[in-house]
Amino acid sequence: MITVQLDLDMTDRSVLVLGSVVGARLAVARLVRAGARVTLARTPDAPGDRPETLRTALPTRTVHAPGPDDTTGLLRLLGPAWLLVTVDAPTALVERATRLAGQLRVMVTDEAPAPRRGQVTLVGGGPGSPGLLTVEAVAALAAADVVLHDRLGPADGLADLAPGATLVDVGKQPYHHPVGQREIEEQLVGAAQAGLSVVRLKGGDPFVLGRGGEEVRACLAAGVPVRVVPGVSSAIAVPASCGIPVTHRGVSHAFTVVSGHQRPSEEELAGLALLGGTIVVLMGVVNLEQIAAGLVRAGMDPATPAAVVERGWTDSQRSTFSCLASLAEDARRVQVASPAVVVIGEVVRLAPGLGDPAVVLDGLPVWTGP
Ligand code: SAH
Repeated sequence: MITVQLDLDMTDRSVLVLGSVVGARLAVARLVRAGARVTLARTPDAPGDRPETLRTALPTRTVHAPGPDDTTGLLRLLGPAWLLVTVDAPTALVERATRLAGQLRVMVTDEAPAPRRGQVTLVGGGPGSPGLLTVEAVAALAAADVVLHDRLGPADGLADLAPGATLVDVGKQPYHHPVGQREIEEQLVGAAQAGLSVVRLKGGDPFVLGRGGEEVRACLAAGVPVRVVPGVSSAIAVPASCGIPVTHRGVSHAFTVVSGHQRPSEEELAGLALLGGTIVVLMGVVNLEQIAAGLVRAGMDPATPAAVVERGWTDSQRSTFSCLASLAEDARRVQVASPAVVVIGEVVRLAPGLGDPAVVLDGLPVWTGP
């Protein structure tokens, strides 16, 4: 047997799914979203499964599957079907149904069952471009019953990436969190305890200024299995979008990622200045002036190059090049807005053709030779 992948238009197609409620729920959700008319012929649930928590949410007609010897019952279900999807039904039933489907020229496909236990996966969604999702992130989204997502990260196209999932926007914005952190944690734990496969999709990497650690701890404290899929952090990827390497041999052999959410103390500023490496500030728009002035006070050269890259890896990316002394003024002039990554250090000069102060660039640059 070979495996072929087909793109099929499922609109109004009759599909019979053979499997348990818990195991087949994602296959059913995906087919329904694709426009198919789905009947789930339900086989017994595995011990410990709690289909009651899911069945009400199952967007389809459910009947009890006939036994493997009930030819009449199977033919009645298969008759109107265009496609048979087997998920986790008993082998004898799958074999019999497959044979009858062959006689009726009904296509047959087999799908892996959905996760049986409630669990939480923290997924790093990268800086906003779906192309910067990892393969592992895409797989976790495809297997999700619920996705809790933020404003940052690849929110567009999420319905296609997670076709079986209810999407919940917990939309964090700077200084304005419509759903509080504790409430997000309660939602994660609650959904997993109801047996659902929960993805917490976060911008960038979950463990870089993302409160991912708190969410992991909340799950562990509640006895909920949890894992983390790291993501492409904006701290590195957003400077990279306009060709700024955060380290470069002979220029900078260290980079420090700091949060500008709160004003850094004089000691912190002195430490950053002393280290001499690249400084990457996240959430730094509001306190940009204090940070730039503080670094100069701490001894950094006012001519040190700096850049602010807004909405990196999106269609509306904008990059502003400046130096420490005029960074705040330039940012004010062009009305820099969050989300933005601030990069301070000699590496900014390495941006191909863009390192000069006072250049404002709209969009993702395309680099060409001299
Ligand atoms: N965990 C995230 C960071 C969360 S803090 C990560 O690893 O990327 C949120 C900050 O990240 C924003 O205020 C901004 O400074 C930065 N950020 C995230 N995505 C961004 C993007 N696409 N463009 C510019 N800055 C971004």
